[in-house]
Amino acid sequence: MIPHWAVERRKMVDCQLRRRAIRDERVLAAMLEIPREQFVPPEERVSAYADRPIPIGRGQTVSQPYMTALMAESLELTGGETVLEIGAGSGYAAAVLGALAAQVVSIEIVPALADLARENLRRAGRGGNVTVVCGDGSMGYPEMAPYDAISVAAGAPEIPAALLEQLRDPGRLVIPVGDWGHQNLRVVVKHGGRVSDRVATGCLFVPLRGSDGWQ
Ligand code: SAH
Repeated sequence: MIPHWAVERRKMVDCQLRRRAIRDERVLAAMLEIPREQFVPPEERVSAYADRPIPIGRGQTVSQPYMTALMAESLELTGGETVLEIGAGSGYAAAVLGALAAQVVSIEIVPALADLARENLRRAGRGGNVTVVCGDGSMGYPEMAPYDAISVAAGAPEIPAALLEQLRDPGRLVIPVGDWGHQNLRVVVKHGGRVSDRVATGCLFVPLRGSDGWQ
């Protein structure tokens, strides 16, 4: 049987996202609209809406839908923001962020994945306000800073100072922090010259590669 993608999407939003307390209606609407099946490899398409990460090649994955939703929600986007994503991967999370903000810059270190993300975004019709840059984002992307929000899709041992510098005040940053076995998704808020952060959940992301002592 050929899956009916709109039905799969609705089930994902109701059973995976709403049930786990994703409340931001804009996030839910974006994920109801964006064709996730177009961001996964053809052989994974039947599992595109499964409650788990999906392999996209080069040892990388597109995050579980709930994780993408939680990260997007924690940025509290209202539509006018400039967002930096680190780790474009398939381009799916960039598409979700693009639906929620004015513009998104997504940096990807693996050239083949940067191409894949661009192609997926174009094919899905979501590339209009999303720019994919190929490069090392471990020190952010100063060219377009400051950012109202930053989403890091790979795990770092600590919150990189360069990212905090490139975050606007007020601004929000979401990042998995920890080692390969134990990470926490941290939500950092910069406001009135002060920086605070909380743990949203435990998580497991691929490691952020780069120049700052990371693998
Ligand atoms: N957001 C993606 C999932 C990304 S998985 C999606 O929705 O599909 C993490 C990605 O981060 C991988 O594609 C990996 O190649 C990339 N990555 C790891 N280290 C990086 C770095 N230093 N700079 C940019 N991208 C990096």
